[in-house]
Amino acid sequence: MKNVVPYVNEEVSGRDFKYYIFDWDDNILHMPTKILMEHLEDDGTWKPVELSTASFALVRSDHRHYRPPSDGGWRAAFRNFADPEKAGEKNKFIEDTMTALARVSAGEKPSPSYSTFKKTLVEGRIFAIVTARGHAPETIERAVRLFIENALTPLERETMMSNLRGYRRWLDKVETFGTDEDELNYYLGMCRYSAVTYDGFKERMANDPVYREKLATATTASRPELAKEFAIRDFVEHVFHMLQRTGGLGRSVAIGFSDDDKGNVKSVSNYIRSELARRFDGIKFVVYDTSDRSLSKGRKVCVSGQMNLPGF
Ligand SMILES: [Mg+2]
Repeated sequence: MKNVVPYVNEEVSGRDFKYYIFDWDDNILHMPTKILMEHLEDDGTWKPVELSTASFALVRSDHRHYRPPSDGGWRAAFRNFADPEKAGEKNKFIEDTMTALARVSAGEKPSPSYSTFKKTLVEGRIFAIVTARGHAPETIERAVRLFIENALTPLERETMMSNLRGYRRWLDKVETFGTDEDELNYYLGMCRYSAVTYDGFKERMANDPVYREKLATATTASRPELAKEFAIRDFVEHVFHMLQRTGGLGRSVAIGFSDDDKGNVKSVSNYIRSELARRFDGIKFVVYDTSDRSLSKGRKVCVSGQMNLPGF
């Protein structure tokens, strides 16, 4: 078949503005990352065990039989969910992403938002990854690059580049394009990668006047939810400023959020209704609950805002 992908897809200028916020684990990919715990044996000794996130969720409150490693505590338990502490050590997130991608290539059923994430990339739309993990933004961006290299076909990658150039010409008035690598770097640099237990993220949140106050009165249990809120607000503001700069605010704008954790879905929906939808009243917000693996794209649980876009 003749190659029909244009070098610059001018048609992107006719599109609505749609952006997405994705949780990573069990939403984009089923990651094999294990939590390191200790289990009380019949003979009274504690033995190290590795638990999947699903098993951990079942035993986490069984304090009689499970405890975090005596050497290192909770930080050690979640060591594989953060970047290595010493330079030169292998990064588990990158390794696990490769494993998860290989399983999908081998025919395993992908996570509910896998295909939406893929489509987002092929269409060249800006997105955010918001995860409870503790990685640096650069680590998550590396994982996204692996996704592009492995989950997209060569034709899909070419389509993505054509769309990226289309947006650059339309919104940034670019006429002379860089190499594919330059243009991909530019695009991925516009996206946001927030791992909310990463020290740099926590610091940024603690330095924000509004969230410093919210954190001061928050219970320990509600802190992770606050952190996701902060990451979402950050992305929505980023999108808003970008649209303001490029004069795109006259069109319909929609932002989707997907997560497989029901607690997050609930708290983010509340946050959107009570704050974001009021502050950004021209933006439509859509939340997807992807906890039910039998549904291919999750369940739409919250829609807020004025616009009514077909296809969302
Ligand atoms: Mg998840």
